[in-house]
Amino acid sequence: MRRLHLVLRRVFLLIACLALALLAYAWLGHRPQDLPWTDLDLERPIGLFTGRKLAALTGDAARCRALLDRAGVAYAPVAPGGTGQCRHADAVRLRLGADAIALSPASVAPSCPVAAALKLWEWHVVQPAAQHVFGQPVRTVAHFGSYSCRRLYGRSEGAFSEHATADAIDIAAFVLKDGRRVSVVNDWAGQGRDAAFLHAVRDGACGLFSTVLSPDYNAAHRDHFHLDQAERGALGGRVCR
Ligand SMILES: [Zn+2]
Repeated sequence: MRRLHLVLRRVFLLIACLALALLAYAWLGHRPQDLPWTDLDLERPIGLFTGRKLAALTGDAARCRALLDRAGVAYAPVAPGGTGQCRHADAVRLRLGADAIALSPASVAPSCPVAAALKLWEWHVVQPAAQHVFGQPVRTVAHFGSYSCRRLYGRSEGAFSEHATADAIDIAAFVLKDGRRVSVVNDWAGQGRDAAFLHAVRDGACGLFSTVLSPDYNAAHRDHFHLDQAERGALGGRVCR
């Protein structure tokens, strides 16, 4: 009797393991974006490793641009510029494609990994959140710029900011289709729809950018989201505050 009990238990365990393996196989078979070793594909939804794969594009302009091309993103490459710590070599200017969110000012040219993450953010985070919260899309994202040869917080000493290589962008506000403006400085605090939207898009940015700093972080970020693609390696830390 005891022996039969043991055999039955083993059979049950085996069936459970097989079922789990099948479930995992089926899930991951349809979600390659959740595996660390698959190639990044901008046409797939955001996966568990999408953010790290985007940051890993830093320094590989050709591959990053090929991904933008394949996903049908309209952009113009920007010639390398700057020197030393302030050299940028993979900046792109996003062009306004059909139904795309306009960046304002439009002349901004962030690094390709930042631009790629901005597009994924637009498609999978910003527009779904705007539809959910306001029932209409965002037309324009207002920003405070990308490339700027400066150290962190504009100090005269210390580490250079990701802005010094165009590997960052500061997002200030979102203008909806009906013209209403939702800004970080005015609408972050509170319990209303605007605050809910801003918190949702901040949280969603964390799966796409290495560093996301919002008013939750400090007073220097009371009026914008700092988004960058600092490359900290496969196991490096990510910042979401
Ligand atoms: Zn910034």
